[in-house]
Amino acid sequence: TFKAVVVTKGETGTTAALSTFDENDLMDGDVTVRVSHSTLNYKDGLALTGKAPVIRRFPMIPGIDFAGVVETSSHADFKPGDAVILNGWGTGETHLGAFAEKTRVKGDWLVPLPAGLSSAEAMAVGTAGYTAMLCVMALERHGIRPDRGPVVVTGAAGGVGSVATALLAKLGYHVIASTGRPQEASYLTALGAAEIIDRAELSGPAKPLAKERWAGGVDSVGSHTLANVLAMTRYGGAVAACGLAQGMDLPTTVAPFILRGVSLLGVDSVMAPKTLRLEAWSRLARDLDREKLATITSTIPLESVIEAGQAIIEGRIRGRVVVTID
Ligand code: NAP
Repeated sequence: TFKAVVVTKGETGTTAALSTFDENDLMDGDVTVRVSHSTLNYKDGLALTGKAPVIRRFPMIPGIDFAGVVETSSHADFKPGDAVILNGWGTGETHLGAFAEKTRVKGDWLVPLPAGLSSAEAMAVGTAGYTAMLCVMALERHGIRPDRGPVVVTGAAGGVGSVATALLAKLGYHVIASTGRPQEASYLTALGAAEIIDRAELSGPAKPLAKERWAGGVDSVGSHTLANVLAMTRYGGAVAACGLAQGMDLPTTVAPFILRGVSLLGVDSVMAPKTLRLEAWSRLARDLDREKLATITSTIPLESVIEAGQAIIEGRIRGRVVVTID
């Protein structure tokens, strides 16, 4: 047996508890990994609290990302002792996940630990940071370069937002950070934000079009916030959308698209193909300032992850949380 957080379903809903798990009950996979670090993402908070039905099988070990060392493998690309990471692919949702000392997965899901990053640093980036990189890459592909004008980052003090702010600033963009936590202004400025705005400016119902403020954006909030971001995007600009912290709805009109040629770029990290993952991780190893990453990161033991899951859903977590396991 090994130590794990296990979510079970009863008559009154789901319950998460620190428990033990039998190795024989691990799911199919060709690589068994001893997990050293995981992280806490918004989706993990949803799974731990049961606030949204992200878990599709019970009992479930939540945790959508991990770093660890291969213990056994029948996959051609991996051998015992290899350092690996994993993001998404349904781990912690349909496949037993990362908040455990051990996990068994498909080798095709694994990525080698990126050169230049420790396991702890890779998980400080985690799925939130890797998604932030996918958003930046989506903007770049659309031609939104620093000379096109400012970019807005919503949910800036959260995990995706903090990494997006640090990455975009390092790449030379003028970053406008939107946050509901004015006390985090100095934190965001230290990450490289050039301006801070109150998220209340973006969280109410949007007009079809508003004054043009930015060439692009990274949005982890959705709902009215994304509608306002689109309405305020300059002619020909683009917004990468990856999250729903305010809501899954999008109360907007086609006006930004058909009158200003604005593009909405959808970003998914869970099923992203391996080539995109490898590109994102090598860019992260290169373009993310390690000192800034350290200021974004806090660390908790596995024993504290259930409590932290509640905090992230309530918007009380700043930056990224690494979960140490081994
Ligand atoms: P997080 O650390 O909790 O960050 C979310 C941030 O959103 C909060 O820190 C807060 O920022 C802001 N926020 C929260 N509630 C809000 C509300 N009601 N109205 C407006 N702003 C609100 O979570 P995360 O791990 O960074 O994830 C962010 C979002 O991205 C989540 O929805 C997550 O599911 C999604 N996501 C998607 C993918 C993908 O593959 N598409 C991957 C990773 C994450 P401030 O305090 O600064 O205002």
